[in-house]
This record gives sequence, C-alpha cells and structure tokens, in this order.
Amino acid sequence: MGKSTYVNPVEEVTSMLEIESITGNERELAFYLLDRFKSIGCRTSLFEAATGRYNITAVIEGTSSGKPGLLFHGHLDTVPPYNMENPFSPYEVDGCIHGRGSVDQKGGLAAVLAAFSAYMNSGKTPEKSIVFVGVIDEESEHRGSMALREMGIDADFAVVTEPTALKLGIGCKGTAPIRIEIVGKPAHGCRPWLGTNAVVAGMEITRELMNETLPECIIEGIGKVKASWNLGRIEGGDAYNIVADRCSIWFDRRLIPGETQEQIQTRVSKLIDKYESTDNITVSAEIARPDWNWDPIKKRGLLPALTEINSEIVKYVKRAHHIVKGSDPVIFFTDGYQEMDFLVNDLGIESIQYGPGDSSLCHTDNEQLSISDLKSCTDVYLELIRLICE
Ligand SMILES: [Zn+2]
Repeated sequence: MGKSTYVNPVEEVTSMLEIESITGNERELAFYLLDRFKSIGCRTSLFEAATGRYNITAVIEGTSSGKPGLLFHGHLDTVPPYNMENPFSPYEVDGCIHGRGSVDQKGGLAAVLAAFSAYMNSGKTPEKSIVFVGVIDEESEHRGSMALREMGIDADFAVVTEPTALKLGIGCKGTAPIRIEIVGKPAHGCRPWLGTNAVVAGMEITRELMNETLPECIIEGIGKVKASWNLGRIEGGDAYNIVADRCSIWFDRRLIPGETQEQIQTRVSKLIDKYESTDNITVSAEIARPDWNWDPIKKRGLLPALTEINSEIVKYVKRAHHIVKGSDPVIFFTDGYQEMDFLVNDLGIESIQYGPGDSSLCHTDNEQLSISDLKSCTDVYLELIRLICE
C-alpha cells in the first residue's frame, strides 16, 4: 500500500464547505472529492447518475476477491442557503464550523476521507475492500441512490454517514407525498345550493384521513413507532362570495416498517371513490411533491427501512464507538427519512446510520458542525474498518 498524506477532517470539511454543491450542482464537489480520494491512494470512479451529474466511488482494495466488507454512503448535495449568513465561507466559533452543508452532510464526507487516509497511512492492507460512495440529489429526487443498483454497489455492511450526533440509527420511516385535487362546481355565494364546494369536500376528506387509526408497531430495543399524516398545504377558492370549485391538498404520510406506498395509495383511492360517486365533483390523488418531476422516484417511493438491533453491523458499530468514546452509543429509530432505504431495500445490505453533527441543525440558518464530533466520528470509522475488514 502506497504512502499517503495524512488528512485532517477539519481542514477537509472546511475546503468542502467552500465548494457550493446545492442539489443539481454537485459536479465540482464530486470532482474535488474524487481527486482527494485518489491522492490518498484509493481507486476511484465516476458514475453519471443524471445528465452531467456524477456519483463517485473510492475503494481501498482488499486482498480477498469477495465483495467489499464495508460501504460508507454519503450525499454530495446540500439544500440552498435560504437566509444563512456566509453559507460558503466557513468559520469556526466555540468548537463548531459554520456553513451550509457542515452538518448535512459534509462532516460525514470529511470523516470518511480522513478515516480512509488514516487507514492508508497505517501501511496495512485489509482483507476485505472498503468502499465509499458519494451520491447526488439526496435532497430531492434521490437520483444518486436510485443508481446504486446500476452501479453494481454491494458490501457485507453499510454505514450511512448522515448526522446522528454519534448515535446509532437502526432504521427510518418512509414517506409518501400525496396531492389530492378536488374539482367542484362554481356558483354565486348567494345561491350555494347550485354549486358543489370543493373546499368543503376537501375538509371532509382531510378529516376522514386524519381521524383514521394509524398503524403502529413495536421495534425491538426501540419501543412503539407510529405512522402519521401531515397536511402541509391546502389551497382553493377565489372569493368569499363564490362557491369554491377547486381545492388542492398536499399531504405527507409517514410509513412505519412493513408499510408500502401502494397500501397508502389504495387507502386514498378507496376514500376518493366514495366522493367521486357524488354529483358534480371529481377527486384525484397522486404521489406528488413540488420538486418531483421524475417518474421513477414517484413509482418507487421512499420506503421505511430497519436493521435488526441484534444484527452484526449494530454490534460492530457499538464496539467501534466503545473503543473511541468509552461508552455504548445511544440507539434510535428516526421519524425522518434516510437513504438507508436504498441500501436495505434495494441492495439487501445490513445498514445503519452513524455520523457527526446534530441533525436538528440540518437545513437551518444556524447549521454548524461540532469539531469534537467530527474527530470522534473519524476515529470510529477507522475502528470499524479495522474490525470488519482486516
Ligand atoms: Zn442529509
């Protein structure tokens, strides 16, 4: 194994934060990271996951010809700065680095790069290969992770490097974004009996959906987890004295393990049929999100994922965390959505989430990454490589 330059995760995340990589514009960061991984001695490659937009892979080659022992997954894109000050001029205050993407999730990318570099510097050659895959488009249509299968990505175990504040995430909920459109019949407000009010129908549909008993399940080591409906946006009507003939409602249905997008669509269709049989009204529903224009992701959906608490990867991460921190990590299941969905459900890889930074700061104007988290996470990733791949 060749000599490489030691990589400092703090300097790495700082350099990455200076490269704007808002969803759709991941290219510069992809090429930058490709160079960084190449410079520490990894075999690297590019994969065009959408036109002109590249996923990258970096491999530390093992001596065995079998599949890689460990895969690190991270996304290259960030959300826009919104009202953040100095989003692309990173600075440090009180042990934290500020910048758009510091937590979500350039800290995770920097920790992988630094751990790979430290391993290369150790002069050892692992038995099993270690792979990093950096994907585009996580914040929108998930085109990067949709391409993982096509890329032939495989491994015994995977770590999603999204921020978890060094807690160990064993699963996530899925999410089904649904838009319901209601078209009624307009009439003057003085004679509402001549029209059909789409907003009133929308209110009834909403009440029925939100009042239904939602599925719940018990996850071993976690406790009770429950599905949810959120009404995020409703619009309709033109004037106070006209019967509203249009209504559009956006829902976000969160799915627990075992639920599928098709089940939710079937449930919504049944409800809609009931209203459709009423005169002068048409109701339709579809999987829709304001930023989704790509049919494959609407069709596949964003599914829940779960890795058993007694699985091998959970044991390995607990051990690595213990070596570095001297205690066991907190184990959790997130109500949010994570791309471990693709690793677990499409590729069948035992996967967990573990990364630096406080996820409650993701997408906020106050996004900042704890340097101590970043350094500890680098050390934990390095221990994991040793435990699983040597
Ligand atoms: Zn993220």
